[in-house]
Parts: sequence; structure tokens; C-alpha cells
Amino acid sequence: MKKSTGIVRRLDELGRIVLPIELRKKLGLEEKDALEIYVEGSSIVLKKYENKICTKCKQIIGEKDKYCRYCGEEINNGKYDKERTSR
Ligand SMILES: [Zn+2]
Repeated sequence: MKKSTGIVRRLDELGRIVLPIELRKKLGLEEKDALEIYVEGSSIVLKKYENKICTKCKQIIGEKDKYCRYCGEEINNGKYDKERTSR
């Protein structure tokens, strides 16, 4: 699913880039949203990161966590809330 956007951006002195607004809109990215960073060969992949919230203790846990790191509750698909509500 690789697709060039034709957009070239330069890093600033702190290594930052601005993601074009068109891309942010397309992926539904808003201010303060988290992106997970992957490296694939010489490519850097930014993936929208969605946290889960443990239904038992309400702590924020990782997207791929199978068990809550705080209370040990098993996390099943559909058994968690997305983080969105915390804004
Ligand atoms: Zn928990």
C-alpha cells in the first residue's frame, strides 16, 4: 500500500518535520495525537497510535498489550475504550 504523495519536507535543526495538513486530515490526525515510529529499511513509517484504556483500572495501556500492565487484567478485542474521551 505504498503511495508517494509527491511531498518533500526538510527536517529543521531539531530533526522535526511538519506533516502536511492534507495528510493529517486524511488520517484524522489531530493535535497531540500520538504516532508510532517504525523503520523499514531506509524508510521511516509513522503509524497512528491508538491507546487502549483498561476497563478495570482505567489506566492507559499500549495498543498491542494483551494484559494490563497495572492490574494484570486480560485485554480482549472490544473490551476496551479508545483514549479519545480523555481530551
Ligand atoms: Zn488495568
